[in-house]
Amino acid sequence: MKNILDYTKAELAQEVDPKFRAQQIFQWIYQKGVESFDEMTNLPKALRQELAERFVIAPPKILQIEGSQDGSKKYLLQLQDGHTIESVLLPMKPEERDSTGKIVKEARYTICVSSQVGCKVGCAFCLTAKGGFVRNLTPGEIVGQVLAIRKEHAIPANRRVNIVYMGMGEPLDNLDNVAKAIRIFSDEHGLSIAPRRQTISTSGLAPKIEKLGQMGLGVLLAISLHAVDDRLREQLMPINKAYNIERIIEAVKGFPIDQRKRVMFEYLLIKDLNDDLKSAKRLVQLLQGIKAKVNLIYFNPYPGSPFQRPDEERAKAFQRYLLDRGILCTIRESKGLDISAACGQLKERSLGDSL
Ligand code: SAH
Ligand code: SF4
Repeated sequence: MKNILDYTKAELAQEVDPKFRAQQIFQWIYQKGVESFDEMTNLPKALRQELAERFVIAPPKILQIEGSQDGSKKYLLQLQDGHTIESVLLPMKPEERDSTGKIVKEARYTICVSSQVGCKVGCAFCLTAKGGFVRNLTPGEIVGQVLAIRKEHAIPANRRVNIVYMGMGEPLDNLDNVAKAIRIFSDEHGLSIAPRRQTISTSGLAPKIEKLGQMGLGVLLAISLHAVDDRLREQLMPINKAYNIERIIEAVKGFPIDQRKRVMFEYLLIKDLNDDLKSAKRLVQLLQGIKAKVNLIYFNPYPGSPFQRPDEERAKAFQRYLLDRGILCTIRESKGLDISAACGQLKERSLGDSL
């Protein structure tokens, strides 16, 4: 049976008669969070029955939750074929209450989703790479991560959620399914998560960056740069042999982005490898002419990892160097060092005055 979460609303409209039923089904699944067709009480009984014979509503199953002191939660989720993936819930801003205890500002969340089981790219610092590549996730398996987390954490349907494709896998290596997930997430009858609140993070598949740009979805782009010279980048990220730094920068320059937004460059700071000011200087040069924002990430060591976390002073000096030259730059504090943040999921903590 087919997972109905795999369908965009337009695709679902092809499957039901009359077409507007697709809208109602979307509302039931994504806004009201029902998990059976029987509960869709404004659909005729015959249609409900037909749907139940043809489709399942199958979000992944939560196997394990690891909470962190800072409020982030990492989920181990099981797909229908038994494979497991990880997603992370990151509370970005806590709710604010007035003196009477009334909530004046709702909490904001970011959910970090996986796009593949494993990954082909094989970066030297990444735990996901160690297990090799297993398979792509379907659109429904991507969307289902958010459904499962929203339900478990009791996040109301109208609450603002951002999506980052920074979990396991390389999203641009699964572009068709990721593009569908973006459309399903942003559907006005579904979760209404606008594309500009969804960020695709990539190791730098230049032709796919260009293709994503041509698709005109309106999503944000994050580049995992991590090194400023090709020699080091090749060692860290073998994909650099296929698409080097210059090629990636060229693709980024052609990427359409909202006037008010920026392309994010992620830069993993690794002790004594790329955390020096000479690298910072080169980074400034590389980013010339790009509306960029840099996120410095402390390398998050795991048992047996070949690299070390840099000293805080070095990280701050690196950041200061960029800020002084007019480049927006934040340091992402490893979200929950007390949980095993395997896919490097990290919370943004602004240390810069200019933000
Ligand atoms: N494949 C995509 C998205 C998933 S990885 C990409 O590479 O961009 C998401 C982010 O986590 C990337 O920036 C990646 O470089 C980073 N990351 C991987 N392993 C990490 C680790 N051990 N510590 C900190 N960040 C890590
Ligand atoms: Fe894949 Fe990203 Fe990990 Fe590299 S960092 S192996 S691209 S998931």
